[in-house]
Amino acid sequence: MTTAHDLAARFGPALDTRPETLQEAAQDFGHLVRAEPLGVLRPESAAEIKDLLEFAGPRGIAVSARGGGHSMYGQGQSDGGIVLDLRALNRVGPVTDGQVTVQAGALWRDVLAATLPHGRTPPVLTDYLGAGVGGVLSAGGLGGAGHRHGLVADQVLELEVVTGAGEHRVCSPDRDPELFHSVLAGLGQCAVIVTATLRLVPAPDRVRRYCLYYTDLTRYLADQRRLAEEQRFTYLEGQARPAGEHGWQYMIEAVAAHTGPCPPDDTAPLDGLAHDRAATEVEDLGYGEFAQRVDTDEEVLRATGEWLYPHPWLNLLLPHDSAESVVRAVLAEAAFADLRDTGLVLLYPLLSGRLRAPLFRCPPGQVLHLFALLRTAPPDSPEPAAAMVAANRAAYELARAYGAVAYPVNALPLSDADWRDHYGSRWPALADAKRRYDPHLVLTRGHGMRF
Ligand SMILES: Cc1cc2nc3c(=O)[nH]c(=O)nc-3n(C[C@H](O)[C@H](O)[C@H](O)COP(=O)(O)OP(=O)(O)OC[C@H]3O[C@@H](n4cnc5c(N)ncnc54)[C@H](O)[C@@H]3O)c2cc1C
Repeated sequence: MTTAHDLAARFGPALDTRPETLQEAAQDFGHLVRAEPLGVLRPESAAEIKDLLEFAGPRGIAVSARGGGHSMYGQGQSDGGIVLDLRALNRVGPVTDGQVTVQAGALWRDVLAATLPHGRTPPVLTDYLGAGVGGVLSAGGLGGAGHRHGLVADQVLELEVVTGAGEHRVCSPDRDPELFHSVLAGLGQCAVIVTATLRLVPAPDRVRRYCLYYTDLTRYLADQRRLAEEQRFTYLEGQARPAGEHGWQYMIEAVAAHTGPCPPDDTAPLDGLAHDRAATEVEDLGYGEFAQRVDTDEEVLRATGEWLYPHPWLNLLLPHDSAESVVRAVLAEAAFADLRDTGLVLLYPLLSGRLRAPLFRCPPGQVLHLFALLRTAPPDSPEPAAAMVAANRAAYELARAYGAVAYPVNALPLSDADWRDHYGSRWPALADAKRRYDPHLVLTRGHGMRF
């Protein structure tokens, strides 16, 4: 009561406490957990974020930033605290040949829309461009160019942030590197990102996309490893897809970029691979069209209503050596049988040496595979969704026994012990950074991390 009163007295009408606003802030893409804040602020400057954190910190008021709102399990919610809705902080530019400065509430599709007319693109993009800049940088950001360039967060040249202690700071690999490395892939624990300066590279005009099919998981994973290590393609992803009544087939999605009228040579990039040659699909697309391909899926799912259903998604990073055992075991689980009818299973390789943000956790070994189980639960019926979250937990435990780690954007509750296990030898450094930059422990409590 005192907190609500204090907040209202301090922030006046800028603090939005309308029921519909609180309801929106208590939801996310996951539609699985719901925590209502006391109010929502919509800062238009770093100074306003600083004001809030200077006020909230000493009073222990929880604060979470919200950009695109695509958390799965309340990671951006703020139970009884404040949600900072960053959507007004969405300026993108200026764009130069090598970089662009972007406010954290912009969406990645806004970033690409601003850079493409200059013939430039971020080197790595997530599949879906509707997520927020700050949200993706705080998770790390995985995409098909990751085997070459690393995380989306690895492309950041400089950050402007407000720490949990209310300090407005600029940091980079050379300027205050400790803060910089505590923020990137840092799950919003140390600071709110206000702007990011991102590296840009020349954008290709067109891409040629190859879909290569496999019935044999062993060969699929071996070819994925080979393609990642040899870097034959600019983009490399893949999926497991149901085949027949009980089986699965696997599809490598490999993309070669080109500029000018000549398409790439088809033979050399596919040389020596074990795919089913007769089933190979080849398609040419404009680069922008390719980068925004998931927008069409979003339109379809919005039209059917499924976009607003619960999404108990699970993303795991598997060591190459045990990937086959984990994939086979999880896909055979009755609790994941719905993936045969609906949803998506991503399975694609990354190289741990390329994923550089120190707080991004990788399993052991040079080659790892993202294994993403993207499911939809029926609306208005909590039991199936809860069962899927429980299945996520079982799959996580199974995978962890094989050396896997979570990519922590999941519908997966993690205990204190899980978080310590997740960060391993990095936990003390994170805990230290947390105490230094967010001494009142008010930032981004939705991850359930306790220090
Ligand atoms: C359809 C879909 C496809 C996806 N595809 C990919 C993919 O290909 N690759 C991939 O890596 N991820 C993917 N994701 C996951 C997505 O990148 C993460 O969930 C991301 O964190 C979402 O960011 P947001 O701003 O949209 O969400 P929000 O819920 O607004 O924020 C997510 C988290 O980041 C924190 N945060 C937000 N802004 C800031 C800020 N400025 N400073 C500090 N912390 C902040 C929030 O507090 C919250 O904890 C996908 C998600 C969806 C829904």
